[in-house]
Amino acid sequence: MPKKCECASCYFEFEVEDDVIEGEVIPCPDCAADLEIVEISGSTVKTQVAEISEEDWGE
Ligand SMILES: [Zn+2]
Repeated sequence: MPKKCECASCYFEFEVEDDVIEGEVIPCPDCAADLEIVEISGSTVKTQVAEISEEDWGE
């Protein structure tokens, strides 16, 4: 079941995969902010705007 997530930047509500983990960074589908998952409780995911300076996006 997808989880509900609210963007910490624009408060847009969207769904994320149920295999997300705390600390994962996902883009907001509305404002494209980078959101770090800070808490997963039940079917709700809390985010904060990620402070990305030297993020490890590499493969
Ligand atoms: Zn947003």
